[in-house]
Amino acid sequence: MYSVRLWSVRHARGLNAFYRGFEATLVRLNPLFRALGYERIERPVASVEKAVKGLLFDCRMCGQCVLSSTGMSCPMNCPKSLRNGPCGGVRDDGNCEVKPDMRCVWVEAYRGSERIPGGVESMSKVQFAVDQRCQGHSSWLRVVREKSGSPKAAATGSPKGVP
Ligand code: SF4
Repeated sequence: MYSVRLWSVRHARGLNAFYRGFEATLVRLNPLFRALGYERIERPVASVEKAVKGLLFDCRMCGQCVLSSTGMSCPMNCPKSLRNGPCGGVRDDGNCEVKPDMRCVWVEAYRGSERIPGGVESMSKVQFAVDQRCQGHSSWLRVVREKSGSPKAAATGSPKGVP
């Protein structure tokens, strides 16, 4: 929901802090996830992630979440799916050239990033093009695998070779 999405950007600092704690908890749960089997838990975890992040960020489940680097403004809501900043078509009022009633997600991203310690620096990191093979998969589990050094594609049901 658009109004909730804007609320999330206004509360980017608190949401980012909450996510840091949540992520640390998830990483600690890696042994449990491995015991249960990443393939088995992928679908239910992705469902919860979709519901929560769909409500807060209008998440499109790209599978490679960058919210912490975009001030809690999901770049996949850009009609052009730009992941590294705005196009040249931002209107004078800061709205999108494709959807005139919507604030440019990158204008929002900058505002949100200013509220997160180190957020503006983080925003300058170049993001890889989105890997469509990750679409619909859980970013949360992907991060746990990366941070805990777990076997990657083998464990999560992610496409082979996708980290
Ligand atoms: S960056 Fe991807 S995973 Fe993160 S909120 Fe946007 S669509 Fe969802």
